Amino acid sequence: MNTPLRTVYLNGEYLPENQAKVSIFDRGFVFADGVYEVTSVIDGKLVDFPGHCTRLGRSLNELKMKRPCDDATLLAMHRELVARNGITEGLVYMQVTRGAEDREFTWSDTLEPTLVAFTQKKNLIDSPLAARGSKVISVPDLRWQRRDIKTIQLLYPSLAKMEAKAAGKDDAWMVEDGFVTEGTSNNAFIITGDGVIVTRQLSRSLLHGITRAAVLRHAQEEGLRVEERPFTIEEAKQAAEAFVTAATSFVTPVVEIDGATLGDGTPGPYAKKLRAIYIEESRRSAI
Ligand code: PLP
Repeated sequence: MNTPLRTVYLNGEYLPENQAKVSIFDRGFVFADGVYEVTSVIDGKLVDFPGHCTRLGRSLNELKMKRPCDDATLLAMHRELVARNGITEGLVYMQVTRGAEDREFTWSDTLEPTLVAFTQKKNLIDSPLAARGSKVISVPDLRWQRRDIKTIQLLYPSLAKMEAKAAGKDDAWMVEDGFVTEGTSNNAFIITGDGVIVTRQLSRSLLHGITRAAVLRHAQEEGLRVEERPFTIEEAKQAAEAFVTAATSFVTPVVEIDGATLGDGTPGPYAKKLRAIYIEESRRSAI
């Protein structure tokens, strides 16, 4: 549970959450014209923060949006929010929108971006979902084609997650042209019968996950074989194991895909090992 009144950040100010006000003309509100990052917090420290800053910069560049401030200021702001809200485990959500002006599809060059951030307390390490393993359904990937940009337009992933929930499952994997792109809010991996870790290669079709990159690095350091290539739902259903990665869920085993049980239906050894390594390495490198 979050404390009743958190301290949040809005354009340079730290405010009680009920006093932070953003214009109804902000293009984030009217056009979903904004980008975001979510950084996990373990032991009161930020995990993979430089990676999140670099990706934020890339998203802003791709959308020709102004950078609200430099990375050192973002780091200081994240640390201040973590301290003020007493977060030992959880996350910091940060969003940049293009700013507020009268509604018009085109925007003015003079527009100043809106930067907001807030914290959420969450048990990331002792996750019940990671312990039992996630059950996923497949859905068509109906998002726009620039999924490498981390925009705030998350309506389709929300609909897909609701569909999974209505089916009594945990999440959905999205499929385009017969191949899995990614999960609704995570990158998707399978592990073949002979222990090869397979995940789709980076392109505009999927988000370049910060956790994905770290997990692939750890897997290679462990001497595991990695193949970055597309895979189908049929191949995934036959896999020995599967898992997803995201900043706030780390490595989460997947135990069922479209009704097909993987292995014995409990989290597999590779996924469990990669989760343990990710948590250990994140603890070591968090800042
Ligand atoms: N793919 C999508 C669509 C996401 O929304 C996310 C995270 O929000 C990810 C992948 C995982 O990215 P990261 O590991 O950087 O959190």
